[in-house]
Amino acid sequence: MIIILKKDAPKDEVERLWHDIEAQNIKINEVVGSHTTILGLIGDTHKVDTEAIEAREIVESVQRVQEPYKEVNRKFHPEDTVVSVGNAKIGDGNVAVIAGPCSIETEEQIIDTCMQVKAAGANLLRGGAFKPRTSPYSFQGLGDEGLKLFLKAKKATGLPIVTELMSLAHIDLFNDVDIIQVGARNMQNFEMLKELGKCSKPILLKRGLANTIEELLMSAEYIIAGGNTNIILCERGIRTFETQTRNTLDLSAIPVIKSLSHLPVVVDPSHATGKYELVEPLSMAAVAAGADGLIIEVHNNPQNALCDGAQSLTPKRFEKCMEKCAQIGNVLGKKVGTL
Ligand code: PEP
Ligand code: MN
Repeated sequence: MIIILKKDAPKDEVERLWHDIEAQNIKINEVVGSHTTILGLIGDTHKVDTEAIEAREIVESVQRVQEPYKEVNRKFHPEDTVVSVGNAKIGDGNVAVIAGPCSIETEEQIIDTCMQVKAAGANLLRGGAFKPRTSPYSFQGLGDEGLKLFLKAKKATGLPIVTELMSLAHIDLFNDVDIIQVGARNMQNFEMLKELGKCSKPILLKRGLANTIEELLMSAEYIIAGGNTNIILCERGIRTFETQTRNTLDLSAIPVIKSLSHLPVVVDPSHATGKYELVEPLSMAAVAAGADGLIIEVHNNPQNALCDGAQSLTPKRFEKCMEKCAQIGNVLGKKVGTL
């Protein structure tokens, strides 16, 4: 349930309302916007007398929220959430570009690739140290060592870094990581989501392989319910009957999520397609459809990549992809990466 307060409602009256609601064991989430103040009620609101609340002088209107997600709901928070990390902004007319290899392999590989994506206009870096691989015999990532190499790339470029947390057992290694990625396979690891709700670092939450938009929003609700509002949602393709692409990029998820929630949406055309030649057209389409960011795999030597070489752009192809996306951004009045 949300209560929209009248402009200039007297403070003592608001406090009285607040007190009466909390006495019913209901949590209140206050959002002070530029035009209105909204009180979002969380808990068992069935017994709350909406008419009595509406009758109060200070109340503009009362609305029941049917959706199971509350704090991530746009009804609770009408204005877009913009996540800022270092000099990069995700949202507010900025299409943030996160680029780098699937996995961190060697110092030369990660630093060279990161320097090149920065030169092409990326404003954040990606790289996996702990990799969720389907086969236990595939390269699992360099782990702790990989994170150390990634921190060197962060220092060399001055750009913030995004990397995946596979287990809460590793969280202490993530102190200098700027954005923690929750991968598709962990989207419903509720214990992990609860723990990440307690930290203040931004979380990049990827949609699960076979999860609905509502399930993605419910997972984000776990994080926000813990107090962490710095959440970025990521559409990375879902399982369908189609076999020509690794997954099917659900482009409609972008405007749908943006209508339902205030959280920014980033698109991963690399994992969505599995093919490097599809990354540029789908990046352009994602920008056109209103994405607040892109996360793109780039490798300085894709043929010899230890993971996901087939979907990785060379730095040169990435540069071209950035230029094309910037042209779409120009049409919409948006900045793509640093271009
Ligand atoms: C990744 O970004 O490296 C990754 C494994 O992605 P996803 O969780 O979307 O499969
Ligand atoms: Mn990958």
